[in-house]
Amino acid sequence: MTSETITHSAEETVAYGRALATELSPPLIVLLRGDLGAGKTTLVKGIAEGFQAARAEDVTSPTFTLIHEYRSPRAVLYHIDLYRIETQREFETLALDDLIAPDSILLIEWGEKFPRLQQERDIEITLNRVGETERRIQRNDR
Ligand code: ADP
Ligand code: MG
Repeated sequence: MTSETITHSAEETVAYGRALATELSPPLIVLLRGDLGAGKTTLVKGIAEGFQAARAEDVTSPTFTLIHEYRSPRAVLYHIDLYRIETQREFETLALDDLIAPDSILLIEWGEKFPRLQQERDIEITLNRVGETERRIQRNDR
């Protein structure tokens, strides 16, 4: 399944994430693709709100912490940012396998750097900047 939409503000991308959350059931691996500033973390704000796992303002980029965890009755969300992970060895040290569980959803930025994640992902969401505040969001489900 492929779908495409355009948002016109960060708020609209958050709202897209909130709506998307109603369609996500664990277990899932979701790759979030797009350049820096495309809106990947903004989308996670909406997904976390949709799950009532966190308020949008409390969802921040895991660029340095690498993994943030948000819990809700419906799922445990892991927001992961692999931007700074360069080698296979560093990747393995993260032990993402340990996070995969029946109730978990992995939301991964820069996951396409690692072929195994590309193979195992269930959903891929690609954000492209098409204007100052316009973003094209494409969703591909396996
Ligand atoms: P990424 O995680 O992909 O690097 P962020 O979500 O951290 O990107 O940053 C996206 C930036 O772009 C934010 O400053 C956000 O306010 C801004 N922005 C402007 N328009 C949009 C939009 N339509 N969707 C998402 N973010 C937008
Ligand atoms: Mg980000």
